[in-house]
Amino acid sequence: MRNSSVMGRFATVAVVTTFLLLATTSITPTLGASLLKENSGNINQEKLAAIRELSKAAGAPQRDASINEEEICLTEGCLDAALDLLNAINMTVDPCKDFFQYSCGRWLTNNPVPPSASWWSRFNMLIYEINNVTQEILNEDPNDEDAKPINQVKDFYKSCIDIDAIEAVGLDPLVQIIEDFGGWQLVNPGVWNSTAFDWLKSAAEVRRRSLQSVIISTHVSADLKNTTKTVVYLDQPGFGLPRGVLIAPDNYTDLITTYENFIVEVATELGTSQTEAQLRTGARAIIDLEVELAKISSSDEARYDMGRIYNPYMLNEYQDITDGIDAQFSIAWKSYLDQVFSSSGVEIVESEPIVVNEVEYIRNLIPILKDAAPETVANYIVWRLVAGLVPDTNSAMRNITFKFQQALTGFNVPLTRDETCANAANAVFGMAIGVKYIEAVFDEDAKTEVNQMVENLRSIFKQMVEVADWMQNETKTAAIAKADAMRSFMAYPDWLKDKEAVEEFYEGLELGDSYFTSQLSLALYRMDKGLKGLREPTNRDEFWKFYPGVVNAAYSPELNSITFPAGILQPPFFGKLRPKSQNYGGIGVVIGHEITHGFDNRGSQFDKDGNFQNWWDNVTKVEYDRRGQCMSDQYSGFFAEAAGLHVNGDLTLGENIADNGGLRESYRAYQKYVEDNGEEGRLPGLEHLSPNQLFFIGYANIWCESMTPEELVSQLLTDPHSPAEFRVKGPVRNSADFAEAFSCPEDPDGMNPPAEDECTVCSRYCVNSSIDGSSESEQVRRPISGYD
Ligand SMILES: [Zn+2]
Repeated sequence: MRNSSVMGRFATVAVVTTFLLLATTSITPTLGASLLKENSGNINQEKLAAIRELSKAAGAPQRDASINEEEICLTEGCLDAALDLLNAINMTVDPCKDFFQYSCGRWLTNNPVPPSASWWSRFNMLIYEINNVTQEILNEDPNDEDAKPINQVKDFYKSCIDIDAIEAVGLDPLVQIIEDFGGWQLVNPGVWNSTAFDWLKSAAEVRRRSLQSVIISTHVSADLKNTTKTVVYLDQPGFGLPRGVLIAPDNYTDLITTYENFIVEVATELGTSQTEAQLRTGARAIIDLEVELAKISSSDEARYDMGRIYNPYMLNEYQDITDGIDAQFSIAWKSYLDQVFSSSGVEIVESEPIVVNEVEYIRNLIPILKDAAPETVANYIVWRLVAGLVPDTNSAMRNITFKFQQALTGFNVPLTRDETCANAANAVFGMAIGVKYIEAVFDEDAKTEVNQMVENLRSIFKQMVEVADWMQNETKTAAIAKADAMRSFMAYPDWLKDKEAVEEFYEGLELGDSYFTSQLSLALYRMDKGLKGLREPTNRDEFWKFYPGVVNAAYSPELNSITFPAGILQPPFFGKLRPKSQNYGGIGVVIGHEITHGFDNRGSQFDKDGNFQNWWDNVTKVEYDRRGQCMSDQYSGFFAEAAGLHVNGDLTLGENIADNGGLRESYRAYQKYVEDNGEEGRLPGLEHLSPNQLFFIGYANIWCESMTPEELVSQLLTDPHSPAEFRVKGPVRNSADFAEAFSCPEDPDGMNPPAEDECTVCSRYCVNSSIDGSSESEQVRRPISGYD
């Protein structure tokens, strides 16, 4: 529910693409030096024996005379890689038929979704380990030598795990807040005063005090046309259910009923004076209103069109426009912003430059609000506030919330309190925890080595642009300049090593006297910190979308930057002792993915300085769009059986472009490595696989993932990333390199479709591209893992 990424030091940016829709912590790095044929004397015989055993049991073809002993790499890194892969590959599947099942089949069988999760993957395993490290850090005694926020977060964590104290506090502070909003009729209809109620002020207060957006939304972010400056955005809000569910409620009657029950149970727990029948009527009116709002909102895919969502005005000019829609229903924009900014120290002026993202949404909102019963609007606003706050209250409310989340995601037991609290701590204090995390487990060599890989990938990307026969020269030049200008942020910001800088980053943050009031105080702190950015320049040198303990990566089109937090710089993504085939199939593809985002259907609309400005000549643009359409159609053809839904090729286009580009680029970077350094050794127990084949299996392995059907539905409706299975099959089907590495025969249903096949049109043409997305969706989802 709460936004889990850390706000930047300066103004925040709205548009960010991540490798995966998740965010949390990371793990212990492996040690090592370069691997390969340097089989030193100390071979771990025990591990080797285990590998041989596993290899036989898995039915792997055993080594024949064609492979020399010297060709096998027996370093620790190679043994670890062999073990990992042997525990994942299903040798009985034909890689040319189903590369996902081949690469991950055994892993999937051995790694069902745990009861406390809605999916389980390599990402989750790393997140779980990082969460454990985080808990250890947070359980340490406070230390005066440390920066103040490091000690604050320990206090915060302590208050979070103290469920007895939380129980003793009970619901009183929540009831107090509801009273501040004039009461909630679902609990106490007599208290609500229709003449005193101001929907606009209430919506602004919900935004300011709980980070939730309701009916409308606002935030401060870089001005997309001039990213050195920041500006106020007005936007459509988030919703309590996925938008895809709300716009087709008849298709999801179970979920709608669960949502209704959620509202009714929360009101009941708050001590309602209403009968259940009255409560259900009230809850249904809330949902009906939310359905109406969702139906006038835009889909995420529609929001990739920057020209459509970038509508600059002066505040007073926009006031005249909306007043012109209906003279009897004015939305007083300055009052709204004054309220949202009221504790930020920033004064909004009459002629404030603003950008309206969803002009049509606001145009259509006015008649809906005008016709709606004021008490329904009030009930809805307070509901969104309450829904955002109940998870931080007593066990009864946490259980009610869990039941609702369970219906959305399919997980069976909640996270432990320790895990929940480590996540809550990271949500605000991720950078402070990162100071200790880096000290405890991070290997600085990873930073150096992966920085070098970024340069290798950048150089390959530029070469691919140079030889792209479908691009005109002027556009090639601009694309190469953009790739050169792209900034890379690796592992953690340097200022984490400076105690004063860490304190400055968290300046003004104070905890409350209970866990609940601390959460309120942190929400307000985060909101105000974002709003204060309005009078600050955008700082291009310091953009960290993630704190260090996150297993993810990101591209920011507004800053033209890529970020790889420390959490992803570990196996299976990267290990300095691991074979390069695995590092290029892992973090190499992630790097290529993020670089490619700079050129996907969203990123391509921004220039090298991150400004929303066209730099494509018309001829190249037409061809680019044609290729994008091709890929969109291709992915829309993928059917996720367990969910009974197709992939949404438009929603996922940017990520798919990035996945396809990332795989292609990293494979070439790996070929360059082999050219310069010679072929890598084979892996013990997997001697029948060439290093090039291992590259692709390494790639597929980062996507070994089990998921509940409920979560899969949710992902297909809301996540710009395709399900794991198609993140493997899509790019592989479009890769001639893959077909060659595995000598796959042409097969319309397999991994090497024929040229006349639609998908092969993509494979031939959908080469150099990539995407991105912002959007503050507030569906109740657990932090996911993966890269953006
Ligand atoms: Zn991405």
